[in-house]
Amino acid sequence: MARIAEQVIEQVRSSIDIIDIIGEYVQLTKRGYNFFGLCPFHMEKTPSFAVNPSKQIYKCFGCGVGGGTINFIMEIEKLEFIEAIKFLADKYNIEVNLNTKKSSKFFSQLFEIHNLAANLYQQNLKTNKGLEIVKYLNDRGINNNTISEFQIGFSINKWSSVLDEARKNNFKSDALIQSGLFINGDKGYYDRFRNRIMFPITDRNNKIIAFGGRVFDSNDPAKYINSSETPIYNKSKIFYGLSNTKGFLSKENTAIVVEGYLDLIQLFQNNIKNVVAVSGTSFTDSHALELNKYVKNVKIAYDGDNAGKNAAIRAGYVLLKNGFFPEIVVMPEGTDPDDWIQKEGPNPLKNAIANSINLFEFQYKKSDIDNENPNLISNLVNDILKEISDVQDPVHKELCIRSIAKVTKLNENTLFESISNINSKKSFKTNYDKARKKTDNKDLSNYNLLEDELIQICFSNDFKTRLFIYENMNTEWLISKSVKLIYDEIFIHLHSDHKPDINIVMDGIKDPNYRQRFATLIFDIDKKNLSIDAAIECLTRIEKIFLKKKLNSLRENLNKFKSDELKSILIEISNIQSSLNNIKFKYDKFIKN
Ligand SMILES: [Zn+2]
Repeated sequence: MARIAEQVIEQVRSSIDIIDIIGEYVQLTKRGYNFFGLCPFHMEKTPSFAVNPSKQIYKCFGCGVGGGTINFIMEIEKLEFIEAIKFLADKYNIEVNLNTKKSSKFFSQLFEIHNLAANLYQQNLKTNKGLEIVKYLNDRGINNNTISEFQIGFSINKWSSVLDEARKNNFKSDALIQSGLFINGDKGYYDRFRNRIMFPITDRNNKIIAFGGRVFDSNDPAKYINSSETPIYNKSKIFYGLSNTKGFLSKENTAIVVEGYLDLIQLFQNNIKNVVAVSGTSFTDSHALELNKYVKNVKIAYDGDNAGKNAAIRAGYVLLKNGFFPEIVVMPEGTDPDDWIQKEGPNPLKNAIANSINLFEFQYKKSDIDNENPNLISNLVNDILKEISDVQDPVHKELCIRSIAKVTKLNENTLFESISNINSKKSFKTNYDKARKKTDNKDLSNYNLLEDELIQICFSNDFKTRLFIYENMNTEWLISKSVKLIYDEIFIHLHSDHKPDINIVMDGIKDPNYRQRFATLIFDIDKKNLSIDAAIECLTRIEKIFLKKKLNSLRENLNKFKSDELKSILIEISNIQSSLNNIKFKYDKFIKN
């Protein structure tokens, strides 16, 4: 395992400033003591991502993420703790000596296995069969530069070609199993991809994380297969080709979304470079979020058959609900972008892209409605309005309705009225659900509040208060697993005359969900009353609830004890009862001080 000296971690921690680091990813504006910006981890229009410079932590009030600077780098760059330290150390020219030659870390191994496979697939292009593939691609108009730029390769028709090579390199078996490149069959593991043209799928930093494989001269009914999802490959977030095209997206401020690997490659080679492809899945909210980092405009260029048109409309609504006004490129019936360029060169497609039409117009035209049939029009418009009713931003919603009115030649006011009917039905339902949930959770949430308060009091400025917690708190009283774990991380710092260092505690919490909880608890701590009185009140109430619970459970189960145990149980009950009676005096000596 890679190790890193504690003093290096400390040096990194003391050199970094959270505002500098996060400022490279998010545009931050100062408001009061904190800085705010658009959250890089979820899609939003108004900033709910807050950074607290004095505590050096961040917190999103929209999606809940939170942590310290190192955690931010781990999340956004998809690095492990040590790698994040190294990443930051590089930035600040701090020397790090990792005392391992080859990283044995699971994630690094996953990337290394993919590199190994990609190299092997590219080598295979030099075999006789591989040369056939090159010719096939050339015949489709894809030249050798493009083949090497996109690292296209070939998986030979053998059951364990990549597997044998990977085993020679001593990868850990859990990395091999979870790489998504092998299938577990009756006779053990074998290569997922055989006799296929291989397209490496990269993340936005150009690391290979998966593959798409296209059939070659076989009658396998699955034209394309993809790697299964893995810890490094989440289909619904990844665009094929993005690492090659992201610079062009920003430059054009427009993204053209296509469905296939070859569509993307064909467009790219024909100088339409601001393009991305979904890879083996439908278009998701995460895709929209990713595009939002680069562009304000999106044009969808899917296949011209019926399935393609429907998929384009679905993708369009996903984009619409995420703040875009998507347009759709009208393709000739039954043709995809790759075919079209092969048949007629790039110009007709370029024209179609320039003349793309808005989503509503596309949907209206596609439905081929006879203007005389009021029922059909009414159904279609209602379907469209139901989709629009999910659009959050009122200005965006209004612009949509104006656009629908124009396309359908219906009166705008009528449309506004219909949509407000749809919305009021919806809000009635959500309010009802919320109210019901609230009563169910009330008891538990009271207790959660106490536990949360305990964590906050541990960061009191007053040494005596911290010491009080250190000496009197009993972890047996805690119910929530996350608070227990967070408290364990804080505990050893409580008897020091320095306040616990938030970032040391933060980095000690390994589970990102618990880190988020901690960041939430700690973010606005300055507004809280963290006095010794608050600590006494908090501990008293936590213990009281614990004792009552114990008492009830003993009483409820009295009949289950054997007669020889019963006596001691009754004594225990009476002891708990007297603890409960005396609990309000328990900390009297602290109050007098
Ligand atoms: Zn967020």
